[in-house]
Amino acid sequence: MHFIDTHFHLDLWDDPKSIIEEIEKNKIYTIAVTNTPSVFFHTYNLTEKSKYIRPALGFHPELVYQRKSELPLFFENLKKTKYIGEIGLDYGKQSNEDKKEQKRVFEKIIDACSNHNDKVLTIHSRGSYKDVIDIIGNDFSNKVILHWYSGSLKELERAVEYGFYFSVNLPMTISLSGQKVIKSIPQQRILTESDGPFTKFNNNICSPLSINVVIKNLSNIYLGDYSFYKQLVYDNFRKLLL
Ligand SMILES: [Zn+2]
Repeated sequence: MHFIDTHFHLDLWDDPKSIIEEIEKNKIYTIAVTNTPSVFFHTYNLTEKSKYIRPALGFHPELVYQRKSELPLFFENLKKTKYIGEIGLDYGKQSNEDKKEQKRVFEKIIDACSNHNDKVLTIHSRGSYKDVIDIIGNDFSNKVILHWYSGSLKELERAVEYGFYFSVNLPMTISLSGQKVIKSIPQQRILTESDGPFTKFNNNICSPLSINVVIKNLSNIYLGDYSFYKQLVYDNFRKLLL
């Protein structure tokens, strides 16, 4: 039984080669997300010989507006990987023009993925979960993982109905709002992520190597057994890949 990390920014890690070695040694299945299509190849090359890490083609919503010229490169690379992310929408401090552009690009990406049925998408939805769920819709042909979901429980229910999965990270298992979300996710839809290097634990930056702490916290939230939840997340991931 292995640990699962469905959202890790390998290319933003200080020393990618050494963390790759650790991931391989510890046999942690890891999706290495990227933030723009132009850096995808870097991660693709880094992980080419890896047994446990898969490169994902991404276009982070906070970079879409500045880098919109890279969109054709996204579509060119779509056939090169089963994994897509980080993509999505971010309705933070951005201007309306920015949000409009994000939406246009996200709709195009979802549309392009609709021509496939074997993709696994890891999706950012800060402040935008309703639009994200609307755009993907109820009859999408690929697997969807909502990463670090922080939206309403009502919309969470809709995402569950649509068949989406949820990847949970360390800060979510610690915050009260995160715990509320976790308790509302059906257990057969839960996955784990580190979102390293953007997350921290006891002042250490999270990586796939800290997924064991996420599992420990999850089992405390669910008042269950550590190895049961380690197995459950592994089984959920296997099911997602079918
Ligand atoms: Zn991320």
